[in-house]
Amino acid sequence: MTDNYQQSNEWAQQHRQSLTTRHTHEDALTDREFELLLEACNSLSEPRDLQARFVCLAAGRLGLRAGEIAHFQAEWLDWDRMLLRIPQHEPCECGYCRRQAAQETTHNAQLTQQEAMEARWHPKTVASSRSIPVDLSLRLELCLERFTDQYDSFPRSRTTVNRRVTAAAEAADIDGRVYPHCLRATAASYHAYQGVAPVPLQALMGWSDLATAQKYIRISGRATADALRQIHHR
Ligand SMILES: [Zn+2]
Repeated sequence: MTDNYQQSNEWAQQHRQSLTTRHTHEDALTDREFELLLEACNSLSEPRDLQARFVCLAAGRLGLRAGEIAHFQAEWLDWDRMLLRIPQHEPCECGYCRRQAAQETTHNAQLTQQEAMEARWHPKTVASSRSIPVDLSLRLELCLERFTDQYDSFPRSRTTVNRRVTAAAEAADIDGRVYPHCLRATAASYHAYQGVAPVPLQALMGWSDLATAQKYIRISGRATADALRQIHHR
């Protein structure tokens, strides 16, 4: 087998994969589906209803990751500035953090479990530490108010975040593609469609590179439509 052949074969494989791999943005919910999901949260029994609503709005509108929601602290909210600040570090020893720390030590022989635990919890990347405006809608504001009236932090484990989303999706009768990360993609699509520019969208979502924001904006078609209409509807 020549190098050339091997190379073109690899390229072909990559190409096939890029055409068949399912991307998270494809699982983003439509506005209608997201409304149905929120409506369904209300049908869950107490206290799952408020918890589910908080998870769905935090992920589906503010773009929080499941790990961020599970480690949410009421003090992350700056009500004067209407900002939610995801910190660089939040001391935590939950089961999820222990498992993540253990995994880090298997990838890095120099790292001890204790050292890995001292860094926990931390968001996924440096870019994930960010400030998110929460006064985007009254609905969102009220949900955060009600949630923090009852809780100082997310009261359950990391797995509960998934469970609340699943329960709401089942009650809303949306087929099996609703999970926290697809809600994060829903937030990205929603803001891209509303016309948020690449740099603020990247900052909001805490992405390390701008290309991801540009991809969401391109897929939403909003910027394309606006640009074309400006030219043609004169
Ligand atoms: Zn933790």
